[in-house]
Amino acid sequence: MNKIGFIGLGIMGKPMAMNLMKAGFELVVYNRTKSRMDELIQSGAAGVESPKEAAENSDIIITIVSDTPDVEDVILGEQGVIHGVKAGSVVIDMSTISPSVTKEIALKLKEKNADMLDAPVSGGDTGAINGTLAIMVGGEKEVLDRCMPVLNAMGKTITHTGTNGMGQVVKLCNQILVSVTNMAVSEAVLFAQKSGVDPHTMIEATKGGAAGSWQLANLGPKMVDEDFAPGFMIDLQQKDLRLVLEAASQINLPLPALSYVHQMYTSNQANGEGKEGTQALYKSVKRLSD
Ligand code: NAP
Repeated sequence: MNKIGFIGLGIMGKPMAMNLMKAGFELVVYNRTKSRMDELIQSGAAGVESPKEAAENSDIIITIVSDTPDVEDVILGEQGVIHGVKAGSVVIDMSTISPSVTKEIALKLKEKNADMLDAPVSGGDTGAINGTLAIMVGGEKEVLDRCMPVLNAMGKTITHTGTNGMGQVVKLCNQILVSVTNMAVSEAVLFAQKSGVDPHTMIEATKGGAAGSWQLANLGPKMVDEDFAPGFMIDLQQKDLRLVLEAASQINLPLPALSYVHQMYTSNQANGEGKEGTQALYKSVKRLSD
């Protein structure tokens, strides 16, 4: 059985690492803030001092950290994975980051005879806890086939989307879909309210038809009830939308609807709502008519 180095034990990483241990994998863990490793170490994982050391002691290295520069840090930095990775090892980055930087990192790892998969996830912390994440994978099919038992321990839907970087591209498509839909739900809820229709009735009447969506069924009622507690935080969503807009600009692709939603979320952030859930987009739309 492969030994796994796991780097980044945040909201997503910690339960994903736990699920790997439950599936019987031997784990070597690293987290920048050491105390976050305690629970895993108590459950039988070995703790190490750097990403380099994690790579030296494993065959598959998983990274799930915040943003593009952070992945560059833990893989290519002074104490990064690249300085400890063994020939034949696979680095699986499960963070949401830039597709073009992903390709560059994969090429650098190839110089060390190591393979890379970009395998960003969708499904939030509940998906991470329950092992039901959707995982979108870029990289060589043969490498993915080898890593399937590892990914199966963390996710339910695992899709090969193309070469390195294409997992990230599909994850960014996911973010376009959820964000623009969220905007439509915000407008429909407000339109119902301002026109004198019970918005819960509007949601019940429409969610089973052609307009149905996860956002309408799950975020719509929260907007109506003014429950803005985060499932997925606006600040994190903005990081992903910035990645989409940067990648789109690199290929001269205008995304007018997504740009508009990005601006509306900026208004949420300016109003101190960055730590609220993405359904607080409704508040930005409502302010336009208050
Ligand atoms: P999080 O709870 O904030 O955890 C971030 C992790 O990254 C922490 O372990 C942090 O270490 C580590 N980290 C950040 N920068 C680092 C650096 N420069 N060097 C070393 N370690 C660093 O974030 P999360 O929610 O788990 O998200 C992780 C990734 O998954 C992100 O790319 C996010 O977009 C993606 N994602 C999140 C969700 C979600 O619902 N949360 C859903 C899908 C995808 P410290 O403990 O030291 O801070």
